[in-house]
Amino acid sequence: MRALWLKKNEERRILDGHLWIFSNEVDTVKSPLTDFAPGEAATVHEARGRVLGSACVNPATLIAARLHSREADVELDAPLLKKRLAAALALRENLFDGPWYRLCHGEGDLLPGLVIDRYASHLTVQISTAAMQSRRNALLEALDALLGPASVYLANDLPARALEGLALTPESLGPVPETFEVPENGCVFNAPCASGQKTGWFYDQRANRAAAARLAKGQDVLDAFCYLGGFGVCAGANGAGSVTFLDASEHALSFARANLECNAPRAAACPASGTICADAFHALTELYESGRRFGLVSIDPPAFIKRRKDAGQGLAAYRKLNLLAARLVAPGGVLVSSSCSYHLPAEALRDCVARAAAKLGRPAQMLHAGGQGPDHPILLSMPETAYLKCCIARLG
Ligand code: SAH
Repeated sequence: MRALWLKKNEERRILDGHLWIFSNEVDTVKSPLTDFAPGEAATVHEARGRVLGSACVNPATLIAARLHSREADVELDAPLLKKRLAAALALRENLFDGPWYRLCHGEGDLLPGLVIDRYASHLTVQISTAAMQSRRNALLEALDALLGPASVYLANDLPARALEGLALTPESLGPVPETFEVPENGCVFNAPCASGQKTGWFYDQRANRAAAARLAKGQDVLDAFCYLGGFGVCAGANGAGSVTFLDASEHALSFARANLECNAPRAAACPASGTICADAFHALTELYESGRRFGLVSIDPPAFIKRRKDAGQGLAAYRKLNLLAARLVAPGGVLVSSSCSYHLPAEALRDCVARAAAKLGRPAQMLHAGGQGPDHPILLSMPETAYLKCCIARLG
C-alpha cells in the first residue's frame, strides 16, 4: 500500500480522533496526490514517520483522504465493511423494536462516505465518495451477507457526488417498491422511495417529533416544511385538534394529507385542518396577516447554511423564519424550531428563538433541546457528524 505523508505538525486532529485529512495538510513533495487513483487506500504517516492509520485518498477533492482504520495497510474491503456494518446493525437492533432506522451514518459509524436507511427488507443507500463508490460491489456483498435485502436503491442524486467526480444517476437493484410503510411513534407513515427527498424518510427527527407531539393535545398545529407530515401526523395522533401542513412540494403534501387521514382521522376531519402549497416565508406572513394563530408551530426547513461562507446570510434567514413562526404562536403555545445546518450551532438556533420572542415582548421557556436520533451517532471527535438541532419553547 502506498504511503500518504502529512506535513509537520498536521497530525494533531487525526490523533484526536478526526477522520479527515485536507489536501493542504499532505506533504505533496514526499507523496504527490496525483500519484493516487481516486479512492485508493494508503497508509498515513505523520512527518516524523509514525503510522496514523489507513485512509482512502481522492486527489481531486479538498478532503484528500478519509481514515477507515488506525492501523497500517488496511484495505477497505468486504470483510471490513461487513464488520463495521455489523457493529452499526447491533446498535440499531438494541435501540429499536423494528427494522426501520438509519443503519449507517457515515463517519458517525466509522464508514466515511456511506449512508444507509433501512425500511425493513429494503435499503436506500447514499454513497458520497469515490472511495466508497469504487467498493460498491464489496459493499453490496457485505450487505447481502448481513441482511440479504429484498431490494437496494442507490440514490445517487447527492451534490457531493459531483465534487467527487461520480455519476448522479440512481440505480435500483431488485424490486424497489414505489412507496414503503414506516412505523414511528405509534403511527405508520407511507413514504415515497425513488420520488422522495434524500432517502425517502427523515429518521433523524423521530425523538423530536415525539417530544413535540406530547405538547400538541387539543391544539391547532401548523407543520411548516412538513415533507410527509412527520411532526403534524404525530401531533394529530396525540390528540391535536387540527393540523395544517405547509410545504413547497405538492407531492410531499399529498403524502402528508394521506398520512394524517390514516393515523389521525379526527384531526384530518377537522375543518381547520388543511394544506398550503407555497413558499413558507410568504405563507407564514399571510397566515399572520389573516389573523390565524396556532397552539403549536413547527418549522423544519432545509439547511440554509450549506457552506461556511453562507453562514451570515443563513443566520439571517433562520432569524427571520423564527420570527415569522413565533408571531403565529397563540399565547402559551409552543414553537418547535429545527435546523439541520451543521454550521448553525445549537446555541445560535436557541438565540434565534430567544430574539424572536424578545421582539414580540414574550417570555420563551425552553422545554426540549433535541438533536438527531441515536441511529445518527455523533462521533465526538468529529463535530461534522452532528448537524440536527430542535429547540422546543413555550411562548408566554
Ligand atoms: N419536517 C419534515 C422534514 C422537512 S424536509 C419531517 O419531519 O420529516 C424540508 C421540507 O421543506 C421539504 O419537504 C421541502 O419540500 C420543503 N421546503 C423547502 N423549501 C421550502 C420553502 N421555501 N417553503 C416551503 N417549503 C419548503
